[in-house]
Parts: sequence; structure tokens; C-alpha cells
Amino acid sequence: MEYQVLARKYRPERFQKVVGQDHISETLLKAFSQERIAHAYLFSGPRGVGKTTTARILAKALNCINNDDGNPCNECQNCKEIATSRSMDVLEIDGASNRGIDEIRNLRELVKYTPIHSKCKIFIIDEVHMLTTPAFNALLKTLEEPPPHVKFVFATTEPNKVLPTILSRCQRHDFHRLSLEDIMTVIDEVLKKEDISIDERTKRVVAELGDGGMRDALSLLDQIIAFCGNNITFDKASQILGIIPSSLYFEIMSSIKEKNRKQMLETLQQVYSQGYNLTEFVNGLNQHLLNLLIGSVESGDKLLVVTEEISQRYLEESKVWNPKDLLRYIDLMTDLETKLKIVQQPKIYTEAVLLKMLEMDSSISISDLLSKLSERGVPSNRTKPTENKTYPLFNMAESSKRKDSSSKPVSVKDSSSPKKQSNIIEKKKKSKESKTKINKINIEEKDNLTEIKSKWGDIVEKVSENGTSVGLFLSYGELVDLRGKRLTISFPSKYRFQMDSVKKKSSAIEDAIKKTVDRTVKINFIIEQKKSMKTSVSQNDDSPVTKRVLELFGGKIIE
Ligand SMILES: [Zn+2]
Repeated sequence: MEYQVLARKYRPERFQKVVGQDHISETLLKAFSQERIAHAYLFSGPRGVGKTTTARILAKALNCINNDDGNPCNECQNCKEIATSRSMDVLEIDGASNRGIDEIRNLRELVKYTPIHSKCKIFIIDEVHMLTTPAFNALLKTLEEPPPHVKFVFATTEPNKVLPTILSRCQRHDFHRLSLEDIMTVIDEVLKKEDISIDERTKRVVAELGDGGMRDALSLLDQIIAFCGNNITFDKASQILGIIPSSLYFEIMSSIKEKNRKQMLETLQQVYSQGYNLTEFVNGLNQHLLNLLIGSVESGDKLLVVTEEISQRYLEESKVWNPKDLLRYIDLMTDLETKLKIVQQPKIYTEAVLLKMLEMDSSISISDLLSKLSERGVPSNRTKPTENKTYPLFNMAESSKRKDSSSKPVSVKDSSSPKKQSNIIEKKKKSKESKTKINKINIEEKDNLTEIKSKWGDIVEKVSENGTSVGLFLSYGELVDLRGKRLTISFPSKYRFQMDSVKKKSSAIEDAIKKTVDRTVKINFIIEQKKSMKTSVSQNDDSPVTKRVLELFGGKIIE
């Protein structure tokens, strides 16, 4: 007997047998019972979900001699001819290879002739969106006034590419992607008839790889049967399908958790040596991360599309991961997926990204960090600090809260104008009432820094008047701190030369500051400290608290 692929051998022959498209089958059957068959149908949906199958059933049902309930009998001459593509009255045209105007003109010629043995002449055009615009226009003329014996069935995966004028003349049916359960049920049925055994895990993987399409799933099954024979096991099937076993992903994640570089590189080596596709590996790892994330939510096991055994493993593993970290990893993997298409050395790049994941430390929330700070002996603002020791972290928070308030910054030491002085007195009163002294000084220092910052342009300009390059160089620096009279300007390490040049002109700058904001300061130059990726802070803000926290812990803000 001639070998037939499963998808053809078990092609549904009745509307009800088309899996997962009940909404369409029911509508079409009703149309038959009410004798309201449209003259043109458009079937849209992903590949391999039953569009052309339904089109054929429809063609058979229209021309079947024994059609009584809407379904074809599949026994009569007409049904048999259509099933074997020999019918003179049913023409299947592939829109991808017959996309020009000439082909459509031929079609228009054919339309004129009445059917030979049947009621209708039926044109099934697959991938109709591939037609050229002139071809569409030629088709439109036929669609506008079709002879009563002519029916059209168009199938497309991209309905958005079909001319709206065509769309409006068709009855449109949208086919759905098939659920995993639907595909698995069909696999069961088919293999039962073929007398082939399969384990649950492989069945699920095949259904998954079908990605919502029955045809793809059954083609894979053909391949597996050819390789494994009548007893399909996961170990054997995974060899041919290039399925990356989830154990590999679990291994990768455990090496990340344990910061075991050697194990990580060994696992990667396994991926290469077994010939797995790198892009598929990265996609799979991303899915794995997502599964871990799903496993961490309540009843997550019900949402996981994996076997019971693997699902349990995800639930267990997800307990050791911080969801925030998983999200960061997913970010990295998603980025890697895109970059793999463009980088010259995808293998090296992948290794680098995975090692980066390994080196990254856990996310930690700001509140956790603050409590860590107090553990390290940094008192909260409720405790009384000693006079010389200030912990600006909390005071900065205060001052940042005040940022938007309308009150202008006021300096205790500033006695230049009587108005300001009265402000000071008022301010002092308030301060006595509510705030600790230390708080107040820090707020003022912060405000004074803000004042200098706001006038910085003028100051730099004044310095530049001396005809030196010092103004230009100064602009590479950043005002970072003011404590008492000590004003700190920080320079990125690559601008060390500029900083040294500026340093020599310190007094000129201090003069300019005195002239501009009437403050006496002593400038302290520092080289910006490189921030290492020790700790990541999972709160995206640039408030002084965060800055201070980052200073203390050398972290990185993540979104
Ligand atoms: Zn029939």
C-alpha cells in the first residue's frame, strides 16, 4: 500500500471532525440546513489548523450527491474525486505560485463554463494574500457578479494583506490556533489507529512543537515514527527532534545559583557538542525562566504546560529564585535572542551573557538595604547622632521631599539681606520646634549645594574670564557634595588630566563662587569611583536615598 503521511491519511472528512474549529463547522453546517451558502468564503488563520481541510469538506459537501445533513458522504463519485484532487469541477490553486494576472485571467475563463458532473464549480485559492494587485483586481470583477454555479473559497495566513474590496465580498471565518490538549488528543487517536505507543512526555513535546498547528505536529510525528519505530520513547525521540532536554536548563540555572563557572561552561559545551541550535537553546532557556516565574505564583503548576514530573520540579526550583532576578534574566535572554541574529560570534556572545548572569548578584529591595544599613551601625534619624558625625542618607531624604516646596533655601550663616535674616529667624524657630539640629544643617548644606549648582554656569563663565581653559575642563566635573565649607567636585577617571589642571586653579574657582553665591568654600577634587555590580537595587529612582545607598553598596539600579 502506498505510504501516506499522517496528516493526509487522517485528514478529517466531516465538518465535526475538524478539531478546534467548532465555531466554523457549526456555522457552515447551519448554512447548509438553511440553504444559505455564500458564494465566497475567506478562511484565515495560522498554518496547519484546518483551513484547506475545511475548504475541501465544503467543496465535497457542495457537490456530494448524497449530502443530507450538510456533511459530505465521502462515498460518491464526486466526493472521491475531490478527495483525490481529480475533480474537474473543484480547482485548487496555490496563490503563492499562481499569483499573476494571467493566472487569474485563466481562472475567469474557467468560471464561464458550467460544472461537468456536479452542482458547483468551486475554486479554492490557498495563500490568496500572495496574489499581485492586478490579479486581485481581476479577481474582484469575477467576485462582483459570480455566476450562480461558482463558489470561491480563499485561504490565507495573512488576511491583512488581502485587499479590503475582496474581504468585503467574502464571508470571513477565522480559524483558531489549536490547544495543546486538542493536538494531544489527535496524536493519541492517530497512534492508536497506527498501533504505535508513545510516552506522555514525548506526546506533549510534539504537541508543543506543533505550536498550535495540527499539520506540523503530525509531520513531526511522521519523522519520529520513521526513527523510533512502533515504540516511541522520549530519549530516542529527543535525538531526532533536537529537543533540548529541560534537564540542561535546570543544570544551567543551578550553576548560576551556585556561581559554578566550570559547570556552566561544561553544560554549554554539551549544548554545542550535541548539535543543538543556539537560538533554540536561548529561546528554551527563556521559556525555562518564564516557567520558573510561573512556578512561583500561586497555583502556578496549573499554568505550566509541561508534564506532571517537570511541573513539580519547576515548583521546587522556583522557591530558590527571587522573581525579580528571574525577570532580570528574562530581560537578558530576550536581548540575547535579538542580538544572536546580528553578532559575529554568537557562541562567544552567549557564553558571555550567561557568565554575566552567573556573576550578577541578587536583587534586593531598598527597604531591605536600609535595614542592612542600620545593622551596620548607621543609625536612623530618630536616634541622636553625635555632633561631628552626620549620616546624610536620611537627611537627604528629608531635603528631597522639600525640593518642590515653595520655601527658598535659607542659610544660617548667610546674613547678607535683612529679608533673609528674618527668614532665618523664622526658620530657626521652626527648627527648634520640630527638627533636630543635625537634620537642619544637612538640609541647608544640601540646599546650598543646590544653589551653587543652579549658578554653576555663571561660576564657570566667571572662571573662564581669566582666559584659561579651566572653565572648559571644569565642565567635565560634577558637584557632588557640600559639607561645611568643603565642596566636593568629582571627575570621571578618564578626565584625570582635566581635573589636575583645574586643581591648580582652585583659588580662582573658589573666588568665583564667593562672588556669585557669596559663599566661602574650599574645593575638594575627587575621581569618581567606578561602580561595581555588587548589589542591584530593585527600585528605579534617582532619589538621594537611592544614590546614597548605591554609594555605600556600589550597586546598580535596575528597572
Ligand atoms: Zn458524496
